[in-house]
Amino acid sequence: MARLAQGGTWDLAVVGGGATGLGVALDAAARGLRVVLLESHDFAKGTSSRATKLVHGGVRYLAQGNVSLVREALRERTTLLHNAPHLAQPLAFVMPSYKLWETPFYGVGLKMYDALAGKAGLGDTEFLSRSQTLACLPTARPQGLKGGVKYWDGQFDDARLALALARTAATRGALLVNYCPVTQLLHSEGKLTGLTCRDAESGREFIVRAACVVNATGVWVDELRRQDAQAGGRTVKPMVAPSQGVHAVVDREFLPGTHALMVPKTADGRVLFGVPWMGKLILGTTDTPRGDLPREPRPFREELDFILGESARYLARAPRREDIRSLWVGLRPLVKPVGEEGESTKSLSREHTVLVSRTGLVTVTGGKWTTYRAMAEDVLEKCFEARLLARRPAGVTIDLPLVGAPAPGAVATSISAAPGLHLYGTEAAEVASIPGPDRQLGGGLTARMVRFAARHEYARTVEDVLARRIRLLFLDAALAASLAAEVGELLRSETGVDPKAAEFRELAQSYLRMPV
Ligand SMILES: Cc1cc2nc3c(=O)[nH]c(=O)nc-3n(C[C@H](O)[C@H](O)[C@H](O)COP(=O)(O)OP(=O)(O)OC[C@H]3O[C@@H](n4cnc5c(N)ncnc54)[C@H](O)[C@@H]3O)c2cc1C
Repeated sequence: MARLAQGGTWDLAVVGGGATGLGVALDAAARGLRVVLLESHDFAKGTSSRATKLVHGGVRYLAQGNVSLVREALRERTTLLHNAPHLAQPLAFVMPSYKLWETPFYGVGLKMYDALAGKAGLGDTEFLSRSQTLACLPTARPQGLKGGVKYWDGQFDDARLALALARTAATRGALLVNYCPVTQLLHSEGKLTGLTCRDAESGREFIVRAACVVNATGVWVDELRRQDAQAGGRTVKPMVAPSQGVHAVVDREFLPGTHALMVPKTADGRVLFGVPWMGKLILGTTDTPRGDLPREPRPFREELDFILGESARYLARAPRREDIRSLWVGLRPLVKPVGEEGESTKSLSREHTVLVSRTGLVTVTGGKWTTYRAMAEDVLEKCFEARLLARRPAGVTIDLPLVGAPAPGAVATSISAAPGLHLYGTEAAEVASIPGPDRQLGGGLTARMVRFAARHEYARTVEDVLARRIRLLFLDAALAASLAAEVGELLRSETGVDPKAAEFRELAQSYLRMPV
C-alpha cells in the first residue's frame, strides 16, 4: 500500500490476478518494466483456481484439426514442467475402449499427438490389452471392456502456480496487490492514462498512473471495456460468452492407482476426465453457457447428473451425490469475434484474443492456463506494436524457474501427504523456516503453514488459505470448514484484520450442497 501511495508513473498496470494477468506481470517485470498488478479479490479466486488441473496440448483440438494450437500448447507444457517441477508433473491417461474400433481409432490420433510433441513428448502412446487396461484403471467397468490406449500429458496445481507467478514477479520488482479492485479508468485527451483502485480492507482509494493498462479480468473483461468506451462516448459489444464447467470430487477408492481416466466421447459428444489429484479424484467437466457472471457459480442439476451418469458408465462402482466431497464450478472466458467499431482484433489464435482499444486499453482473454506464458508474450508484443511501451526483447521467461522450484537435480519432495497439503521443492523448506512453535491444526495442516501463507503468500482470509494456499476446499469441503476457526485465529494474529471465518464456513457448505 505504501508503494501504491507513492504515486509516480508505472510502465504497466495489469488489472486481474488470474493466470493471464499474473503471466503478463511476470513477463513484463522480467523484461525490466515497472509493473503493478491489482486483483479485486484473491489471486486465482476467479477461473484460475477452478481448472481441471491439466497441463495439456489438448487432444480435443487435435481432433478438430487445430495443429498449430496443439503444437504451441505442447511447447508450453514442456516449459511449465521445466520451470515449475514442484507444481506441474507428467500424468498418464488411459482411454478404455468398449468398442473394438476405439483402440486403433483413438490410438492413431494419440500417436499424432506424440509426433507433434516430438522431443517434448512425456512418454509414448501405448495400445493396451483388456488386462493391461484394468491394471491401469483397476475400477474401470469390466463388462464389455476390450482394451484401451494410454497417453501422457501433464497435471498441475493451478492456484499455487498463480501464487508462484505472483511471487516470482515480485522478485523481479513488480508490485502485486490482492483485495484491491480497480474502480475506474482515467483518461486524458482521449487516451487512457491510468486508473483508480480501492483497498478493500481499508476503503482507501489510490490513483495509479501508467503508460499502458492491461485488462486481464477473465470473464469480467467487458466491464472495463464498457467503461473505457463510454469515456469516449462510444459503446462496445461484449466479447466474452461465458460457459461454466463443473467438477465433482470423490474419494480415490472410486479410481485407485496412478492413471487418469479419459473418456473421449461421452453420450452427448463431450469429453470427461477422472483425474487423481492430491489424494482425491476429480470428475468433470461440463460446458454450459450462462449469461450472468457470479463470483461463486453453482452447478445446474443436469450438469451433475451428466458427470455422475457418465462416471457410472465407465467405473465399476458409480459415485453418488452423497459421495461428493466438494463440488465446484469455473467460468470459461470464451471469446466472441466482435469488438468495438474501429478496435483492432489482434488475435494470434482462436484460443485467446488481444484487443487494443482507441484509448489504448489492452484487453486479453480466452486461452487456457497451459498457454499463459505464450499469451503474456503476445500481449506485450501488442503493447509494443501499439507504441504504448518501448520494445524490450522477448523470451525472458522461457527458462525462468518459478519461486519454489527445486534446484536442478534436486527431488521435489512434499511436506505432507495429506490431501491438498502438498508443498514441494523449496516451499517445504520455506515453511520449515518460519520461527516459533508449530502445531497440528487437523487434516495435516500446521500452524506454520498458515503463518507462511500470511507472511509470504499474500493470504488475508481463511478462504485464501484453505482454498488456494492449500487446496482443501476443492478436495474436502467439510474438512476445510472444520478448520476455519483455528486458521482464522492464526491469520488474525498475523494480519490484524478480520479473516472472515464465518463466511468461509458458509462457502464450504455451498460446495457440499447438491443442485436439486
Ligand atoms: C471448468 C474449467 C476447466 C479448465 N481446465 C483447464 C485445464 O485443465 N488446463 C488448462 O490449461 N486450462 C483450463 N481451463 C482454462 C483456464 O482455467 C482459464 O483459461 C484461465 O484460468 C483464465 O485465467 P484468467 O486470468 O484469464 O481469468 P481469471 O482467473 O478469472 O482471472 C481474472 C481475475 O480478474 C479479477 N478482476 C475482475 N474484475 C476486476 C477489477 N475490476 N479489478 C481487479 N481485478 C478484477 C478477478 O477477480 C479474477 O481473479 C479451464 C477452465 C474452466 C472454466
